[in-house]
Amino acid sequence: MPERAAGAGGAGSSVEARHDVVIVGGGAVGLLLGCLLAGRGIDVVVLERRMSRGTGRSRAIGIHPPGLRALARAGVETEVVAAAVPIRDGRATCGGRTLGTMSFRGRGGGGSGSAVLSLPQLETEAILERRLGDLRPGGMRRGVEVRAVHDRGADVQVDAVVDGASLRLTARYVVGADGVRSGIRSSLELGWRPRRGRAQYVMCDTRDDTGEAETALLHFEPAGVVESFPMPGGRRRWVARVRRPPAHLTPETLAAIVGSRTGGGFDVAAASEPSAFEARQHLADRMAVGRIALAGDAAHEISPIGGQGMNLGWLDALRLDHDLAAALAVGAPFEAFDVYDRVRRSAARRAVRRAAFNMAVGAPASGARLRVRNAAVRTLDLPPLRSLLARAFTMRGL
Ligand SMILES: Cc1cc2nc3c(=O)[nH]c(=O)nc-3n(C[C@H](O)[C@H](O)[C@H](O)COP(=O)(O)OP(=O)(O)OC[C@H]3O[C@@H](n4cnc5c(N)ncnc54)[C@H](O)[C@@H]3O)c2cc1C
Repeated sequence: MPERAAGAGGAGSSVEARHDVVIVGGGAVGLLLGCLLAGRGIDVVVLERRMSRGTGRSRAIGIHPPGLRALARAGVETEVVAAAVPIRDGRATCGGRTLGTMSFRGRGGGGSGSAVLSLPQLETEAILERRLGDLRPGGMRRGVEVRAVHDRGADVQVDAVVDGASLRLTARYVVGADGVRSGIRSSLELGWRPRRGRAQYVMCDTRDDTGEAETALLHFEPAGVVESFPMPGGRRRWVARVRRPPAHLTPETLAAIVGSRTGGGFDVAAASEPSAFEARQHLADRMAVGRIALAGDAAHEISPIGGQGMNLGWLDALRLDHDLAAALAVGAPFEAFDVYDRVRRSAARRAVRRAAFNMAVGAPASGARLRVRNAAVRTLDLPPLRSLLARAFTMRGL
């Protein structure tokens, strides 16, 4: 999205009827917000540039109790719980010795009774997209790339391209849920500051041979953390922190990293193609200006290591749903997002701090530093810190 506002008209442009709300981006966050607003009968449309979701590996798998409550508000809790697997416990070890345990039993909502559910993001998005289609046929428009937004005071003009042709929409409010490289954020110059917490990881999904199908395993080893999480279908995701990703990343290389640190491993023949990613953290200086708000990764990039960007984005959506409904009910004032900006930026700052702490705990360590770290992790296993840790792990307070 190179420009802040497009010129008027243009060859082949068409003007559509105005909507109450236009959401730019049909990822997990834009879709959930679309469902929430459509469920209230609000005239909302979600514009997504990709023609299809794709079939690759999902980024997120973890759904936390506040996230599940947001999904319940959208009417998809039963379907999500049925498709997901529960993660009921967590165990932290070093050199085969247990440093601490966490139980999520009884903390979560939903029929699972667990605090955390595991479901690949692509499946959750598919459920949300179907729900949006049921609530508001045509509420999701694929193949529409937004190029510019222009806040005109009384409404917002949205200029997009579909099939090479220009498309112009107007809305009372626009939400940019267009991901970490948000064009809306940069065109509105809302700032994007790096925050503490940056490291490299490798990951792959494979068959779960651990015999601990409901337990998250965190190995805090001297060479860096190895984490693994249950997934539906008897599978498990392995994630290892590395100083830098191997030049040739294969299931064998990742299994060797896991084996050398934990003494365990996994069946490489059952493993998906591994991938490397750099966890980084950024926050937008502002999450709203005038009639335009940011939500999800467009507003905050949270490290997936102990941070939960998708769930945090769903909580943005819950707040936006409330604030947009209230604003539309009283004639759509221009300052609808003042509280949203303050409340959700503060939640994002807390999430960033938690994730930075989690990443620091999983850094390579040896000697005295390793002993101090392990002692600190053991301390977290003591009541009442154990309860605090479980609260942090399950995103209470965000
Ligand atoms: C390895 C990894 C693991 C993760 N694990 C977890 C986890 O377990 N739990 C968790 O909560 N989070 C996790 N996350 C984070 C999570 O994946 C993101 O926070 C989440 O995808 C954010 O959703 P979003 O809808 O804000 O953005 P996105 O999913 O990026 O969606 C943005 C959408 O906007 C569309 N778009 C962009 N620009 C335009 C435009 N101009 N016009 C139209 N459409 C546009 C894009 O095509 C895209 O579909 C993980 C991330 C990674 C990398």
